[in-house]
Amino acid sequence: AEEVGGGDKEVVREYFNNNGFQRWKKIYGDTDDVNKVQLDIRLGHSKTVENVMKMLKEEGSLQGVTICDAGCGTGCLSIPLAKEGAVVSASDISASMVAEAQKQAQEELFKAKDDQSPAPVMPKFEVKDLESLDGKYDTVVCLDVMIHYPQSKADGMIAHLASLAENRLILSFAPKTFYYDLLKRIGELFPGPSKATRAYLHAEADVEKALQKAGWKIRKRGLIATQFYFAKLIEAVPA
Ligand code: SAM
Repeated sequence: AEEVGGGDKEVVREYFNNNGFQRWKKIYGDTDDVNKVQLDIRLGHSKTVENVMKMLKEEGSLQGVTICDAGCGTGCLSIPLAKEGAVVSASDISASMVAEAQKQAQEELFKAKDDQSPAPVMPKFEVKDLESLDGKYDTVVCLDVMIHYPQSKADGMIAHLASLAENRLILSFAPKTFYYDLLKRIGELFPGPSKATRAYLHAEADVEKALQKAGWKIRKRGLIATQFYFAKLIEAVPA
């Protein structure tokens, strides 16, 4: 099952509704029941989210800006975006993830506080795979999802996400330059039976080519690396 849209996608959905959901909810959360590796990944991922927030806010206020968070997971990005007043459409292939994101957003965005400015707008959460997303958004963000797409499928995915974005597309992916390092550590990312879930790394040049083909160019680049977490972050704009 090489294909996203074929066997791989079902495996990924199943993983993120069950074992993967339990594991990643813990990593993306703030409880103490994580091991050293998980804690390191938590730190790396939170840096990615921070960097994205910085990239976005550099270009101006997010108040009223429409943002699609594709593959939103537990809402690590959707929630801070909503706090900035962005109008967020958040979706994920996993119903468990979407339910958790919704719960956390409810808790975090509307806890008793009367000094919130701008007022947060509850994100619109939906169970949907990337391929079924439609509509137009000022900005489309897709963090740490490409690891589930082989490059052959990633090109189409990038083109599709670009077609939904009017002004900006932000992507993060595990860079191929760290291939050997990552290989050693991949077992940690997908432990136990869920090791069956494959991890795909991407060369920055390949991602750039796919963007060019779609009529987009890279405006900003960043790299987030901790001991066990590697992410290349790019912001693209229409060429
Ligand atoms: N973007 C979130 C973040 O950075 O906090 C979550 C990242 S998590 C490593 C990957 C997420 O991608 C999972 O929640 C998974 O369910 C979702 N996912 C994987 N393949 C997908 C697809 N084809 N369409 C939509 N979501 C997908």
